[in-house]
Amino acid sequence: MNIILVGPPGAGKGTQSKILEERYGARQIATGDMLRAEVASGSPIGLEAKAVMEAGKLVSDDILVRMLRERLARPDCAGGVILDGFPRTLPQAEALEALFKETGRHLDAVIVLELDGDALVERIAGRFACAECGAGYHRLFRPTRVKGVCDKCGSTKFVHRPDDSPDVVRRRLAAYNEQTSPILPFYEARGLVRKVNGMAPMATVAASIEEALRRSGVQARQIAV
Ligand SMILES: [Zn+2]
Repeated sequence: MNIILVGPPGAGKGTQSKILEERYGARQIATGDMLRAEVASGSPIGLEAKAVMEAGKLVSDDILVRMLRERLARPDCAGGVILDGFPRTLPQAEALEALFKETGRHLDAVIVLELDGDALVERIAGRFACAECGAGYHRLFRPTRVKGVCDKCGSTKFVHRPDDSPDVVRRRLAAYNEQTSPILPFYEARGLVRKVNGMAPMATVAASIEEALRRSGVQARQIAV
């Protein structure tokens, strides 16, 4: 199974990818992680990317596609891949199509996790964590049992990641919409887009994705009991 998983930051793509890896024997490839791993490994292509980034430039599509080509050739990708973070632009989508054709891979579906902007802001902006032990909470969905006191360690100090502020979340969401708007028509024209309600609970989202994949002719693998 080869799919592209699309969704704004905070949509739970990481969680859903883990479930999909288990159910379909595919490997998640998050482009950002792939890039960081290559740079850290000091591979020739990693060094090339590092030089570009150190010069303050964006890593080119050419480098990303070559990296992806190498990554897809590894044994752990034999059972399929779940692409996360790529493609982001039309040229990248075209390059990916060429790469799949060249390597004999078939793109089964583009799963789009749809989230309501305001609800997403609420979901992310409500997060906070214990300053002492790091336990994670949410103002609405996972409050502390006693107001202002950490359940785990009793601390009364909490922190809020600056990245989780409503303004930052709205900016990330706008950037996401701007990035994905050109690629969706490309895949819609190929009949590959499957939209899933990403606001539902995690298990419901997972079930909806499975149903969408079944409609694309992809079956979950049999789980040995
Ligand atoms: Zn704590």
